[in-house]
Amino acid sequence: MDTEELKASVIGEIESRREQLNQLSLKIHDNPETAFQEVRAAAWLTEYLKENGFSVEQGICGLPTAFRARYGEGKPAIALLAEYDALPKLGHACGHNLIATSAAGAGVAARLAADSFGGSILVMGTPGEEMYGGKVFMVKRGAFDDVDAAMMVHPAGLNTATTKFLACQTLEVEFFGKAAHAAARPEAGINALEAMMQSFAAINSLRQHIKDSARIHGIITDGGEAANIVPAHTAGTFIVRAEDDGYLDELKKKVINCFVGAATASGARLEYKWGEARYATLRNNFTLAKLFRKNLQSLGRRVHLSNPRIGIGSSDIGNVSQVVPSIHPLVAIVPPKVANHSSQFADAAASEAGTRGLLDAAKALALTVVDLLAGPETFARVKEEFRRGSE
Ligand SMILES: [Zn+2]
Ligand SMILES: [Zn+2]
Repeated sequence: MDTEELKASVIGEIESRREQLNQLSLKIHDNPETAFQEVRAAAWLTEYLKENGFSVEQGICGLPTAFRARYGEGKPAIALLAEYDALPKLGHACGHNLIATSAAGAGVAARLAADSFGGSILVMGTPGEEMYGGKVFMVKRGAFDDVDAAMMVHPAGLNTATTKFLACQTLEVEFFGKAAHAAARPEAGINALEAMMQSFAAINSLRQHIKDSARIHGIITDGGEAANIVPAHTAGTFIVRAEDDGYLDELKKKVINCFVGAATASGARLEYKWGEARYATLRNNFTLAKLFRKNLQSLGRRVHLSNPRIGIGSSDIGNVSQVVPSIHPLVAIVPPKVANHSSQFADAAASEAGTRGLLDAAKALALTVVDLLAGPETFARVKEEFRRGSE
């Protein structure tokens, strides 16, 4: 079978599974599980992959809801990444149900390429993207050591083959003050809430003197007990993001100074802890991105190679992209004005447009696997670009 015939069979394979994949996607959407709690989603996905001839290892890298499903033995090994965590209260407002099922569908269809040309297909279950960075731990613990390329597709408001992600790290902050009657004995209290509010004010002042692309944002998770008690304890969670690792380090120091200053001014004691997972920036592999773009375009979508209008967040695929050639394209399921992490986006992830996005993403991923396995010289170019970038 030549490459074009094989590509037609791959598309046919996904088309014939339209209903199965859609049902799987809707089941995950209807049962949202937040970061590292994705027990049912991981079970449903691995069950589907097992039924379709994949061998599955569950709970890899010390993460109970991570998995690796493998089809074929040989090299190269191409990983399709599945995310399946939801957001607190908002459910699947980032559409990870579509990411998971497009990876699974692509994996099953790409078996045809592995049968014809050799190589192995890995569907990697990568939990906790929204909060804890499952991929950060998976990279550290060797899950990508024998992987030659990694791909996933994220639903969004436009079609693009590359995207941009900021390096980021989460910060947990607590202030410890002293409780007292807020009216009768205010002088006896140390107000931990004032310390937290001064920190926000100091960060807001800092914000006008940082680089445009950097971001600092946070919430208060404990703001005191009652209005008539001087708050003895407050807590907050913050995220600091920057376009490169060096600037992230610089910004982290400046942000901590805001909290130290507030502690000094209020007399409250500061404790803080940086999150264990530091998300790296995304290194797009353009050779791989161009292959993907051509395949997604062949399905009738207009696809940007890159688009400066995309809002920039962060993702733990950044860490994967530092160790293997990777892409994280976007597929449109909503108009550009609808943002991820909104209730409209959650609705779209279970809509007709969501299903179209899921199927096109699965097809374009599987077609790109065909390109890689059928053309060793193409794969060599992907690897060459990666090597050049790391010199
Ligand atoms: Zn998200
Ligand atoms: Zn997401």
